[in-house]
Amino acid sequence: MAKHASRRSCPCGTGLPYDDCCGPLHRGDGAAPTAEALMRSRFSAFAVGDPGYLLRSWHSRTRPSRLRLDPAQRWTRLEIVDRTRGGLLDSTGTVAFRAHYRDAGQPGIVDEHSRFVREDGSWVYLDALPR
Ligand SMILES: [Zn+2]
Repeated sequence: MAKHASRRSCPCGTGLPYDDCCGPLHRGDGAAPTAEALMRSRFSAFAVGDPGYLLRSWHSRTRPSRLRLDPAQRWTRLEIVDRTRGGLLDSTGTVAFRAHYRDAGQPGIVDEHSRFVREDGSWVYLDALPR
């Protein structure tokens, strides 16, 4: 199980406590209402080390069979750069983001434009758009 001090602010950067933000999604106590919320919860899952949530929120067609997180990689900050659709009434959406990390002390950034779709009514990560 992922351990995280729940009253601390959520890793995704909303400023809300983890328990009022991505925590309930990770526990399965709710569904992300928008593609951006799902994106944020996936970043937080990397940050708190919850590969199970990452797999559950991945489209069944593109999901890897297993996922191992690198414990030396610490996810520190998420910037949402742009978004298209992905709202309450949409079934597709994209989110462009920059995810900041430190790997063995060295800073790095993942710069990605992700596609999200609804599968069985819930937002899931599909893939990254080609750059
Ligand atoms: Zn969050």
